Amino acid sequence: MMQHYDIVIIGAGPGGLAAAMSASEAKCSVLVVDDNPLPGGQIWRHRVFSQLPVVAHKWINGVFESKFVTVSSQTKVVMFPQDKQVLLESPDSAKVVSFDKLILATGARELFLPYPGWELPGITGAGGLQSLIKGGLPVKGQRIVIAGSGPLLLAAADSARKAGAHVVAIVEQASMKSVAKFSVNLVRWPIKAIQSISLIPKRYWTSSYIQSVSQSNKGFEVAINKAGRIRHIECDRVACGFGLMPNIELPLALGCEVNQGCVVTDSFQRTSAKDYYAVGEVTGIGGSELALLEGQIAGYHASGNPKPANALLKQQAKWQAFADLLKKTFELGSSLLQLAKDNTLVCRCEDVTFERVKQYANWREAKVATRCGMGACQGRICSGAAQTLFKWQPPVPRPPFTPTRIETLSLIGSGDK
Ligand SMILES: Cc1cc2nc3c(=O)[nH]c(=O)nc-3n(C[C@H](O)[C@H](O)[C@H](O)COP(=O)(O)OP(=O)(O)OC[C@H]3O[C@@H](n4cnc5c(N)ncnc54)[C@H](O)[C@@H]3O)c2cc1C
Repeated sequence: MMQHYDIVIIGAGPGGLAAAMSASEAKCSVLVVDDNPLPGGQIWRHRVFSQLPVVAHKWINGVFESKFVTVSSQTKVVMFPQDKQVLLESPDSAKVVSFDKLILATGARELFLPYPGWELPGITGAGGLQSLIKGGLPVKGQRIVIAGSGPLLLAAADSARKAGAHVVAIVEQASMKSVAKFSVNLVRWPIKAIQSISLIPKRYWTSSYIQSVSQSNKGFEVAINKAGRIRHIECDRVACGFGLMPNIELPLALGCEVNQGCVVTDSFQRTSAKDYYAVGEVTGIGGSELALLEGQIAGYHASGNPKPANALLKQQAKWQAFADLLKKTFELGSSLLQLAKDNTLVCRCEDVTFERVKQYANWREAKVATRCGMGACQGRICSGAAQTLFKWQPPVPRPPFTPTRIETLSLIGSGDK
């Protein structure tokens, strides 16, 4: 028998968890699917639960304690075999599940832009470094350069310092004027102002970006363009990410309207596809507070309980204003699009250079002709880079959305295995 849920939620970050808890208040049966080993999403990624902030305890404990919510971790979405059905695969099982409503809470990932040397081992994203540290990577005593753009650089630097690393420089492409204006405006969101005080950075270079990285006897030598002048720094590790980009592959596959890389929703988080909602950073980068509010609004609305959803709209608007300010402050400068040289790799999995990729008109053509995006990361890194560098439209993915076992695919049209 195929399992049926009133609501299926994809993503167990703040947005997905809040949606699940709110929907459970109306006694709806809810399935939360996430590909990570534990719920919490990016911000509450953890090994030791007690080290998470209290707000995370509330939402994560909430879903485990609710008799209406089932959490399926380490579970990948393979495809949507029919309308209102999803094929799921976990390490030891696979199943097709049907649902009445779907809430997409797939979050965002880091945006990488290629520069000479970015493919060297030891170079990660800024959030990537933070995730590795949260996963136990030892960085004690290491000299680290953190670069790119956005508040995630400060969060990553804080995690690195707490783990005993020496953060040599935080290299932010936005100007001091923009960052200062942003900081002053934070008084409108006191919780963010307090957070920013705890993260006040040392060695924070604005109007600066990494131009290239090379290996040296003592680790890496990083060339940094600081307001037009090149400075060289030695370090053991480089962590560079240019902000976040929404994970819109599943919404695109479902035909949801997307604008400027974000899923379009109405005020109740409904997408253009009937009975499909989207919440959190898949609808735009705005932080966990906005994701929690959007998750609650969608959870209440999808479970036929619009009154509490309505009551949250004002708060949602306040945090949407924070998201808008974030976007304006850390908008990427055009010089970043010139960093890749002809021989710089764009696709690190399949060794495809910038020179080869730039010959094509769109991602699909480049992929077919060069194999870019066909390697281990399945384009999760290079397709974002290509969209930014060449202004290409995000590709609509074709199923299966992830490498899948053959016996999982044999379930299409049948039931559980
Ligand atoms: C690497 C990284 C580090 C970050 N660190 C911080 C930080 O230190 N401090 C901070 O304030 N903010 C941080 N952020 C931003 C923060 O994560 C977001 O503001 C917030 O978590 C957004 O919540 P969300 O629910 O929208 O998405 P997320 O928290 O991103 O959750 C989305 C979840 O969906 C899962 N998922 C996505 N696609 C699929 C799929 N196809 N199948 C199954 N599961 C799927 C993901 O694995 C993830 O668990 C970070 C973001 C990133 C990308």
